[in-house]
Amino acid sequence: MELLKKRITENGRALSESVLKVDSFLNHQIDPALINEISSEFCERFSDCSFNKILTIESSGIAPAVMTGLRMGIPVVFAKKAKPSTMTEEFFTAPVHSFTKQKDYDVAIAAKFITKGDRILIIDDFLAHGSASRALIAIAEQGGAKVGGIGIVIEKGFQNGGKLLRELGYRIESLAIIDEMSRDSIVFRD
Ligand code: 5GP
Repeated sequence: MELLKKRITENGRALSESVLKVDSFLNHQIDPALINEISSEFCERFSDCSFNKILTIESSGIAPAVMTGLRMGIPVVFAKKAKPSTMTEEFFTAPVHSFTKQKDYDVAIAAKFITKGDRILIIDDFLAHGSASRALIAIAEQGGAKVGGIGIVIEKGFQNGGKLLRELGYRIESLAIIDEMSRDSIVFRD
């Protein structure tokens, strides 16, 4: 998606060779017009699929997931990073390892929001090592749902999550794939 690549080039900042900061349009301040275009692109790329629910993880996946849910006319459920005390009912949980924060945590979704037979689209802001996506897949499976696609805003192609998930047979649509980056340059896959 050229518009997104341009934005990453102009406003993204590689903090190292492995962590990209995009807090001016995606991760902190959010550009609704760009997210709207992102949702349109996801709809087009998955136009041959039929989903009835989107799963994402708080917090940065929520904006692209909600805009896509609005366009597709389907609900969005986000996994919570800490099980809140208000989540008194049954819930599904799965572990995530964050390489950017160097910590492990569980994510949780109330069982009532996953129905057996759901056809799930996962949306997230980044795909790096695939831990977040795999946690959402595990939660979907606990509820008897099936993940039919994974939509990623920015995939870091030099980390192994995309390869791993594609080898497992998942269809991933990444709107920008970065093959290499440094403090001075970001190289995208064509
Ligand atoms: P994964 O679980 O695939 O290793 O990493 C994906 C998650 O980690 C995303 O939900 C995202 O929030 C975070 N993440 C991974 N790499 C980056 C990065 O380079 N920059 C930012 N801002 N977040 C990242």
